[in-house]
Amino acid sequence: MDKLLQEMVNLRRHFHMYPELGGEEFATCEYIQNYLQELGIQNERLGATGVIGLIPGSGRSAKVLAIRADIDALAVQEETELEFKSKHDGKMHACGHDGHTAILLGLARYLKEQNYLPAGTVKLIFQPAEEKGGDAGARGLIQKGCLKNPDVTAIIGYHLWPELESGQYMINNGAQMAGNDRFKITITGKGGHGAYPARANNPINGAVAVCTAINSIPARLFSAGDYTALSVCRLAGGTSFNIIPAEAVIEGSVRTTSLETREKVLEAIEAAAKNICQGYGLSCQVEAGQIAPLLLNTPEIAELARQAVTASGLEVVPDTAPAMVSEDFGHYLQHVPGAFMLIGARPQRGEAYFLHNPKFDFDSTAMKHTVRVLAEFIERFFNTAG
Ligand SMILES: [Zn+2]
Ligand SMILES: [Zn+2]
Repeated sequence: MDKLLQEMVNLRRHFHMYPELGGEEFATCEYIQNYLQELGIQNERLGATGVIGLIPGSGRSAKVLAIRADIDALAVQEETELEFKSKHDGKMHACGHDGHTAILLGLARYLKEQNYLPAGTVKLIFQPAEEKGGDAGARGLIQKGCLKNPDVTAIIGYHLWPELESGQYMINNGAQMAGNDRFKITITGKGGHGAYPARANNPINGAVAVCTAINSIPARLFSAGDYTALSVCRLAGGTSFNIIPAEAVIEGSVRTTSLETREKVLEAIEAAAKNICQGYGLSCQVEAGQIAPLLLNTPEIAELARQAVTASGLEVVPDTAPAMVSEDFGHYLQHVPGAFMLIGARPQRGEAYFLHNPKFDFDSTAMKHTVRVLAEFIERFFNTAG
């Protein structure tokens, strides 16, 4: 296993040195395809920058298990002192997707070296543009048919998690990561001179009232166990100290952990904005857009994954609050059952920086543990009826 860990460390360092943003992962895909080719694993490009690898089984099981790794980097200027620091200015694997990719390639190598013949088919999905949202990432790959031919029975995904120790895993029943929606409220009034507010209708006054009202929505509507985060992140309006503007804009982010909560919050934002603006004689337009859906684990698959962790001599962290960050893996789970694992990866030395931080790094031993867990999961998955 230590030889394999070294191999994954090398892979991870390579991807880390040459990060590519979502939709531009051309060199990354080429590297992945060459690697699979060398292992004798059938593979193909899906879309411009997705790769699908196929490990056929013995045919004893008709099931198809997909395992997904995301491969894109972020527009972050790296601030680590690592010897394998990013060589691409302004781009960095600050979300650990370099490690995710190395784990999936490491798993492929491990299965090959063991001459392991799974009972059913294992599909390796290397997904681009997870960070981009919209149709660029998971949703786009699904539209292009990554869950078809052969049809996927269930899917597993994972994320390195610097808040847990290497060897610890968190696999919730149900909500694992929050749903992520953005909202934008455009408030229109009447511009004018700062000296004559009564001749104008200042949209900033309405915007401030709307901000206060929507900030109180989580506290007003939900009880303590209902994890919801609502943040106004942008408030814009005006150009000068003495000109009343005609328009003000509020933008923000809503993170919810149940479908009902999501609907309630989005409705409440719209109602608060419209009612307040009406009271102020302002007009307003409310737009909302989904960034990533709620990531809901299938309890039976989550249980199987937890068993694989324990059987590998590693630790399952009890069900806790879902992470409030989001993942586009939730799209797959709207089509097939599956589970997403958070992989403990706190660095052994120094501070643990969170995902997207310019100093983010992780404990590479987490990669070796995860290959063991995934191999164990594959065995259990095909040996379970259904
Ligand atoms: Zn990220
Ligand atoms: Zn990520």
